[in-house]
Amino acid sequence: MNTVTQGPKFVVSEAEGVWLWDDNGDRYLDGTASLWYCNVGHGRTEIADAVYRQISTLDAYTVYGDFANEPALQLSERLAAHAPVADPRVILTCGGGEAVDTAAKLARRYWAAQGQPERGHLISRTGGYHGLHGFGTSMIGMDRFRTGFGRLIEDTSVVAHDSVEALEEEILRVGPERVAAYFAEPIIGAGGVYAPPEGYFEGVAQLCRRYGILFIVDSVICGFARMGNWFGIERFGVRPDMIVFAKGVSSGYLPLGGVITSGEVAEPFWNRPGNPFVHGTTYAGHPTCCAAAMANLDILEREDLFTVSLEIETQLDSAVQTLADHPLVREVRSGVGVMAAVELTTEALEQRGITTSEVFTEARARGVVLRAIPHSLLISPPLIITWEQIDHLVSTLRAALDAVD
Ligand code: PLP
Repeated sequence: MNTVTQGPKFVVSEAEGVWLWDDNGDRYLDGTASLWYCNVGHGRTEIADAVYRQISTLDAYTVYGDFANEPALQLSERLAAHAPVADPRVILTCGGGEAVDTAAKLARRYWAAQGQPERGHLISRTGGYHGLHGFGTSMIGMDRFRTGFGRLIEDTSVVAHDSVEALEEEILRVGPERVAAYFAEPIIGAGGVYAPPEGYFEGVAQLCRRYGILFIVDSVICGFARMGNWFGIERFGVRPDMIVFAKGVSSGYLPLGGVITSGEVAEPFWNRPGNPFVHGTTYAGHPTCCAAAMANLDILEREDLFTVSLEIETQLDSAVQTLADHPLVREVRSGVGVMAAVELTTEALEQRGITTSEVFTEARARGVVLRAIPHSLLISPPLIITWEQIDHLVSTLRAALDAVD
């Protein structure tokens, strides 16, 4: 739970590059780039300087109605220039979950504007994570995030993450004329790092075209060089109707997210009198957050982290796959993007009476921060990690596995 009020805490006091320091002055390797977002690494003074300059010039002002600010306009143009979306338009939000909800509402509102208000159904996939706002919670492909909240948003369903056929069956079950959109991450991240099977996204894009369904890609984890490109989905050669982004856009230095939508979807609402898409939040388009994002994108481009990350992807893959022979390990998923999952066998966990949290704790006690989900340890370091640091990360994880074995 995201709380700063209960239980003993691991207090992160300082960070620089791939390193963190706790309040005792002990150092840790940040094996997860915080929560999948610190792509350029910690402690970049040029982002701090950009934030300072922006706050000193224009701290904040709403982008409600016809208000705008320069950083928001510049960032929107820059993102649109790189998005694999036809005639792209950008809507800014304060984070990923808000962007998911914005995209879901825009999809439904688009169909209503087309005279098809019955097209409201949203399909997502098992293991998919789309944030914990209303629509995101309703579309999430992991039951533990959905239960206990009463009735969620209706007209949503989840299909097998690796099957184009399963998606088509669901479209036909619901009725194509009732389906608004299909949501998918390029690689399932928080659900356990699952790359799609060969040809999956081509098949999905074809289906969506055939049945007139909007194809929405959630690039919140996969974007901004984690997959060697801007939005992750370029890797699979398809063009969605909308892209949801957050995290790496600012490397998390300040919160920011958004939706890039095709002009066709935006058209009923763009520059129309009376604001027919009635949606927006107080801090969307915050100039200081946008200035942080611009400075972050400058670093990504100047240091060519798009290319560097492809080398890191290969190095991480070869290092982490060496854990596949460990007796506790069932499977290691890696090799597409700078992310990996080390899945432990259920039997091994049950026999020892442990969970992945024990492995996480052992790794952290040895100076490496990872992420534990029910069966797997997840790895997603900053994109400036070196070969030696990857080696250190993986050998520490092996030592943590040995310690609980
Ligand atoms: N979508 C994906 C794919 C994510 O991984 C996340 C967060 O991890 C979100 C959406 C939600 O973003 P936020 O936590 O900024 O609301």
